[in-house]
Amino acid sequence: MFHRVFNNPNITVHFNTQAMDVVSNSKGQMSGVLTKRVDTGEESVLDVKGLFYGIGHTPNSHLLEGQIELDSSGYILVKEGTAKTSVEGVFAAGDVQDHEWRQAITAAGSGCVAALSVERYLVANNLLVEFHQPVTEEVKKELTDKDVQMGFDITLTKHKGQYALRKLYHESPRLLCVLYTSPTCGPCRTLKPILSKVIDEFDQNVHFVEIDIEEDPEIAEAAGIMGTPCVQFFKTREMLRTVSGVKMKKEYREFIEANK
Ligand SMILES: Cc1cc2nc3c(=O)[nH]c(=O)nc-3n(C[C@H](O)[C@H](O)[C@H](O)COP(=O)(O)OP(=O)(O)OC[C@H]3O[C@@H](n4cnc5c(N)ncnc54)[C@H](O)[C@@H]3O)c2cc1C
Repeated sequence: MFHRVFNNPNITVHFNTQAMDVVSNSKGQMSGVLTKRVDTGEESVLDVKGLFYGIGHTPNSHLLEGQIELDSSGYILVKEGTAKTSVEGVFAAGDVQDHEWRQAITAAGSGCVAALSVERYLVANNLLVEFHQPVTEEVKKELTDKDVQMGFDITLTKHKGQYALRKLYHESPRLLCVLYTSPTCGPCRTLKPILSKVIDEFDQNVHFVEIDIEEDPEIAEAAGIMGTPCVQFFKTREMLRTVSGVKMKKEYREFIEANK
């Protein structure tokens, strides 16, 4: 490295010199670096338009001295190929344990190893505490098939399965929106959140049922469904409209608005 630097005519090495500040021109652009000789204290400006910081070679690991094993340069020692340090349950990642590569990608990769190691350690030592999301209103609004078996609730807006469809078809005074889907249908996955948001806008004015045509093939056949996704709208047992495929949100919204 020494010979490569000194043999390159484009490079001038400034020994015993500290970079003190960046100097800018009237446009606020960098125009130089203020330097200071450490031996004489003399300051001068180096006319350069760019600045690139070289990484230091002293790992910031002083706080760990005497607590976990470091090498002679201050890097944390890890067991090769792992994130394990000399202390059980303490894992190291990134440049502070890597005197060789010190790259963003290797630091990130070792971060992943360390994070998974921590998780395994916590599980193995029964230290893992799981936190669960509280059941939100949104979740409560949707009935699963299990819920349906446990009891149908017509006050809820969103439902699933043929039992709910039969009940709503006969008993709901609201506009009924039926979405026919199948598990392997990609466009169904696109349509579901779109429709779900529109239904949320008309909560209390509309009922929604999702029918998986593989789970309830007889219902799909009776409804004349030839493909998924397909949406049908009913009101007081009358079929108002069939919409095949995925349409713009506003198309569903406008129809519901006009017929709710
Ligand atoms: C000028 C330069 C250019 C680079 N260019 C590239 C490149 O092009 N490609 C590439 O892959 N890599 C590059 N790198 C290397 C890359 O930036 C590092 O490998 C990477 O950032 C290391 O990530 P890290 O999380 O291990 O450490 P760092 O990114 O250094 O993060 C460590 C963090 O810990 C904080 N910290 C330190 N001590 C304490 C303490 N006691 N308490 C709390 N926080 C503390 C620090 O403030 C810092 O935020 C470059 C590095 C430099 C300096």
